[in-house]
Amino acid sequence: MTSAIGDLCDGPFRAQRAAFRISLGNEAWSAVVGGTGGDPHITTLDFINGTNVSGLNTKNSTQLADSSALFGAGLRDTLGNLISRQFRIAFAVEQSPDRNNQVTLSSATDALGLQRPKIAYNLSDYTKQGIAAAFRLKKLIFSKLGVTSEQDFTKTADDDPAAFAVDGIDQKLTYGGAGHVMGTYRMGTDPKTSVVDSFQRSHDHPNLYLVGSGTFPTVGTANPTITLSALALRTAENIAHNL
Ligand SMILES: Cc1cc2nc3c(=O)[nH]c(=O)nc-3n(C[C@H](O)[C@H](O)[C@H](O)COP(=O)(O)OP(=O)(O)OC[C@H]3O[C@@H](n4cnc5c(N)ncnc54)[C@H](O)[C@@H]3O)c2cc1C
Repeated sequence: MTSAIGDLCDGPFRAQRAAFRISLGNEAWSAVVGGTGGDPHITTLDFINGTNVSGLNTKNSTQLADSSALFGAGLRDTLGNLISRQFRIAFAVEQSPDRNNQVTLSSATDALGLQRPKIAYNLSDYTKQGIAAAFRLKKLIFSKLGVTSEQDFTKTADDDPAAFAVDGIDQKLTYGGAGHVMGTYRMGTDPKTSVVDSFQRSHDHPNLYLVGSGTFPTVGTANPTITLSALALRTAENIAHNL
């Protein structure tokens, strides 16, 4: 990520919809085409292997035959021309807490015989409206930039289980993860509604500390690691103090 737009996160709109933070990345089209965790070399592989996962290995974009497998100067020049023109715009949307979003034990077991996690996960209307606002802003930014799209990767697949519809938008929307796992053993002052206190110490078991981003009571727009590191240091001081 080379840049970001972080100052659209707050305002009166938050009474109506979730906020988002925008990141601008120059790691090319990996996440856009391959999904989060997609191969960052997706365009490169296309031109080495003669495939077209990126949608760029076509006659129109390269002046070559469709799905060319290139090498040498042709490969170098084509990649230099394409990859230097790729960028990613992404929206990290906050999520309101939902008690039905849970991680419980599944009856299915893994290769070690341990029960697999069973994840119930849904988005609130508040969060969906934030994603819709992000979608509208993306369209606005692209139109101001004069971007025309030959390959539109914003279409949502019919069988996407995460797809949802929003009034006023003529296509279904969906979302991908950012790897920012937060919540479940949340922090709070009330043992009825939280698992740990502000020192990440279990309400039920004073000799047990649960350290990590699982203690976040909700999910904002920002990446969690700096905050969870600060909390870990605070917890360590508290443990040392209590020893
Ligand atoms: C692809 C990706 C990109 C990311 N990029 C960023 C970023 O740019 N900026 C940012 O701030 N955050 C980023 N994050 C998020 C950040 O890495 C996580 O939020 C953070 O690492 C969570 O820390 P944690 O200590 O809560 O959990 P973890 O780091 O997941 O630690 C949990 C530990 O518990 C261990 N464990 C699990 N089960 C058991 C068990 N039964 N017994 C013993 N040990 C067990 C695991 O092996 C693991 O070591 C990213 C995450 C991913 C996946």
